Amino acid sequence: MVAELISVGTELLLGNIVNTNACFLSRKCAELGYTLYHESTVGDNEARLCEAINTALTRADVIILTGGLGPTSDDITKEAVAKVLNRQLVMDEESRRKIEEYFKFRYHNNPKHTVSENNWKQALKIEGCIVVNNNNGTAPGYIVEHNSRIIILLPGPPSEMVPMFEESIMPYLQKKQNKVIHSAMVKICGIGESRAETDIMDLIEGQTNPTIAPYAKSGEVHFSITASADNEEEAKKLITPVVDELVKRFGNNIYAIGEEESLESVLVKLLKQYRLTLATAESCTGGLLAGRLVNVSGVSEVFGEGFITYSNEAKIKYLNVKEETLKQYGAVSSQTASEMVAGAAKAASVNAALAITGIAGPDGGTEQKPVGLVYIAGYLNGSVTVNEYHLKGNRQNIRELSVIYAMDLLRRMILAQYE
Ligand code: ATP
Repeated sequence: MVAELISVGTELLLGNIVNTNACFLSRKCAELGYTLYHESTVGDNEARLCEAINTALTRADVIILTGGLGPTSDDITKEAVAKVLNRQLVMDEESRRKIEEYFKFRYHNNPKHTVSENNWKQALKIEGCIVVNNNNGTAPGYIVEHNSRIIILLPGPPSEMVPMFEESIMPYLQKKQNKVIHSAMVKICGIGESRAETDIMDLIEGQTNPTIAPYAKSGEVHFSITASADNEEEAKKLITPVVDELVKRFGNNIYAIGEEESLESVLVKLLKQYRLTLATAESCTGGLLAGRLVNVSGVSEVFGEGFITYSNEAKIKYLNVKEETLKQYGAVSSQTASEMVAGAAKAASVNAALAITGIAGPDGGTEQKPVGLVYIAGYLNGSVTVNEYHLKGNRQNIRELSVIYAMDLLRRMILAQYE
């Protein structure tokens, strides 16, 4: 099935808000096994919206529109769909009753607050459609089955759209499909997107069912493997050999198989599994690494201390980095990173530690030590590994990538020592 998304709202075109609805719905379409070729954003203009709907009808089986269902005159989605499908807008008695109830409840029957003409607009439905209940707002959603097409209208606010989709639209679409869609997620860290994709190009090119979709995230690549079958067991049977093949090809570069796992949760699990305790020593990341680790509930079992040692003095004072080392090699050096990690492990009396020192920019770079040069050191049971990285991006990207590569370094050290 081919799906198409149309986001409605001039505020989206002006860049006033980020189109999180399209992001959410794109992921849901992938989960449903739909192919998504087009996604567009249209301002609050009926003619242009009608044009977008007409175009979508020529190339998609399922068209999902969000926004423009409110009571004001610039909310025109319902009107545009009705016009394109040549259907009437008719009063939906149930919606009308709900609006009346809402006003009574909200304004305690105060005669000053009567339902305005605008508000009644929200009780109009497209002739012959399915009205979808909105448990988090006043504008209902609509499903219109038209010839062999399905057109779905959803409210704009994500706090209304997301639950409506999860509660009503997803089950409706799944029922229509008569097929079960099942997905697995394989998460990779430590190799770039293009290399990861090249390594499995033969699988991607030959894919039909299941499909393999790569997603690049900061420092990571995720592969979503989606199969469609008569039941979940059959879908899993189709997915398993593909996941096995990815494991064979990427080995330890895979840090998790599953949607819920994050790099930090995997690292914390490994630390717990091998009864290791961790300390962190951070310079340019200024606590970002400790913050990521603390995302994991139950981390206190393995993580007790983190040092933010931004200045040379702090590196000497808390981590026992030698003054000569700093003088001879500088704060951003393999030697300093190595002393930081060993110092942190000693100061916190732990058997695992991570240290990060680098130049996050935009200032502070030199020819020998450019912005993006980062040293990450890992310590595990007395042995130290230091890696040098040349990271690209702005200050925030460089700091975030440093944290990801640090967690990945210790993960790999643990696997190498214990597995
Ligand atoms: P309302 O009844 O609140 O008017 P509506 O269906 O008419 O709902 P819009 O008026 O188009 O929706 O949008 C209302 C608000 O919802 C926007 O101001 C914006 O904050 C949010 N919103 C709309 N579309 C999107 C989107 N695609 N992604 C994220 N947020 C959105």
